Amino acid sequence: MNSRRDFLQKMTASAVAFSFFPRSGSATMNELSDQPYQGPVLRVAIMGLGSYGSRVAEAMQTCKKAKLAGVISGTPSKIKDWQSKYNIPEKNCYNYENFDRIKDNPDIDAVYVITPNGLHREQVIRVAKAGKHAICEKPMALNAKEGQEMIDACKKAKVKLLVGYRMHFEPKTLEIIRMRKDGELGKVLFFQGLSGFRIGDPNQWRLDRKLAGGGAMMDIGIYSINGARYMIGEEPIWVTAEETKTDHVKFKEGVDETIQFQLGFPSGAVASCLSTYTMNNLDRFFLNGEKGFAELQPSTGYGPIKGRTNKGELTHPHITHQTVQMDEMSGIILEGKQPIVPVDGEEGLKDLKIIDAIFLAAKTGKKVDLKL
Ligand code: NAD
Repeated sequence: MNSRRDFLQKMTASAVAFSFFPRSGSATMNELSDQPYQGPVLRVAIMGLGSYGSRVAEAMQTCKKAKLAGVISGTPSKIKDWQSKYNIPEKNCYNYENFDRIKDNPDIDAVYVITPNGLHREQVIRVAKAGKHAICEKPMALNAKEGQEMIDACKKAKVKLLVGYRMHFEPKTLEIIRMRKDGELGKVLFFQGLSGFRIGDPNQWRLDRKLAGGGAMMDIGIYSINGARYMIGEEPIWVTAEETKTDHVKFKEGVDETIQFQLGFPSGAVASCLSTYTMNNLDRFFLNGEKGFAELQPSTGYGPIKGRTNKGELTHPHITHQTVQMDEMSGIILEGKQPIVPVDGEEGLKDLKIIDAIFLAAKTGKKVDLKL
């Protein structure tokens, strides 16, 4: 640091980071202040008590502005377990048949839908009709048409719709976005996103087209799509894509195993990405500008995220992603706060439009134009 400008930029970055995140360990915002939190608390019911729902529930235990208040599940034994673990009253427990009654429950503000992708549309629309805010896991739906229907339903019901994009609150990610916005990377020309893992059990819903809406692209490739957009800071105007399949039994018709895709942006920047269910150790973002670069590896896992730029290693502390996500989403829903990177239904819809276009490009072999 040898100029006043660099110093001020560094100060601004720390101030931004500090307003969001604590200084060390995997602590939460609770530890930022000695003062007990007095503001509004978002009371959330989780729908779908599976592996990610369990992770979110655990992370919410250290939230300051959000609280796990209810559950919606088709498995009575899971409801009992969660009730005793998280002290959830019977009146805040529902199943998939009766959860519309949540509209008469004044102790729940929002429902977080964490079920298989193919159920999101119908469940979010029912949540909206019950007058509750909806937080929906990614991918928001199976395609853009469904996504638009969810947005319309939430608008009509005057409730908010957010998508569980936890990386939009991650400190190292936000620092790279700040550097790009402040011109520290110069004109951005290229992004590379590698997103994949080797999927196990062939009978899981993630490999069932009706419930998953596709294969790796819906589940993990979406991180590279979303990442390309928030790293480059523009919306793509065209896509090309090529699909390869090595196992036609495990990855049936309509369930993609590996897709390489390219996105073109209005400034001339391009993104080159890989989405796969066949290779491990694929979790990497690389952003290249005329004056600098930034890389994250791992880039979207549960953390700690690791990264460096041309200025050196990124040292922002790890914080449990879902804890900060839920605290920040509480601020968005209850206090009208604006996140640095949007997490609303329109943001989820953009990714779905790109996925629709990638599938079309892979099928036809043609470049597909996009208007987001
Ligand atoms: P999971 O299989 O572990 O859990 C799904 C839950 O939905 C289970 O409790 C299951 O009982 C319930 N369910 C209800 N109806 C069902 C049906 N018809 N078929 C199958 N299950 C049914 O899955 P998961 O890993 O928790 O994923 C759930 C959602 O969360 C998906 O949309 C996924 O993309 C998303 N997810 C997001 C992240 C993230 O980091 N943001 C991570 C993992 C999963």
